[in-house]
Amino acid sequence: MSFSTLPLSEAQQKNLAELGFHTMTPIQSASLPAVLEGRDVLAQAKTGSGKTLAFGLGLLQRLNPTYFGCQALVLCPTRELAEQVAQEVRKLARALGNIKVLALYGGTALKPQAESLQHGAHIVVGTPGRVLDLVDRDVLRLSAVKVLVLDEADRMIDMGFYEDISAITQACPLKRQNLLFSATFPPAILKASEGFLMNPVHVRTDDKP
Ligand code: ADP
Ligand code: MG
Repeated sequence: MSFSTLPLSEAQQKNLAELGFHTMTPIQSASLPAVLEGRDVLAQAKTGSGKTLAFGLGLLQRLNPTYFGCQALVLCPTRELAEQVAQEVRKLARALGNIKVLALYGGTALKPQAESLQHGAHIVVGTPGRVLDLVDRDVLRLSAVKVLVLDEADRMIDMGFYEDISAITQACPLKRQNLLFSATFPPAILKASEGFLMNPVHVRTDDKP
């Protein structure tokens, strides 16, 4: 199915075509209608299936570009993934103009990241530990978050980030959209997802070609 079947702006349709994205991957066509409707979504699909675009288009749709506070938060397990996701979301964000996407992760000095935050960011993509640290220091404020994405949720839980994620969700408004993406769904993920998602739409594509 083509991206043109989705309720996206003309600018985003044009941007997707320029980026070379024409046909949706199975996880994209299965999840994007619900994501764009603002529903909570629990999605399972293997690595490389295009999950970033599925949540990226969703969170961009909810942004107010004129407000430079954090409106969408994406949590990822590692620094590399946070950088990758931030880069992909930046490409999609071109359709909206001046959107700032900031990657925040540990293993590097906190001060420059805190300073970048002072200049405002619409979207934060980060690892749970560093994000929580910045929230605790009141440098990162999550009171305007409209969409929370848990990317590679299975890996984050495996790495012991459950408590951090839980604390981060408590700093977000109660009324928000939650999107959980995972390559696998062991019982621990299902249990965790019950605490983070509200009446989610379940999507899985693993048995499809
Ligand atoms: P996942 O998170 O599921 O592992 P990614 O979101 O990283 O997968 O996407 C894997 C690759 O597929 C990326 O290079 C991305 O740009 C590309 N991709 C995503 N969606 C499409 C699409 N609809 N058409 C072509 N390529 C796509
Ligand atoms: Mg991914």
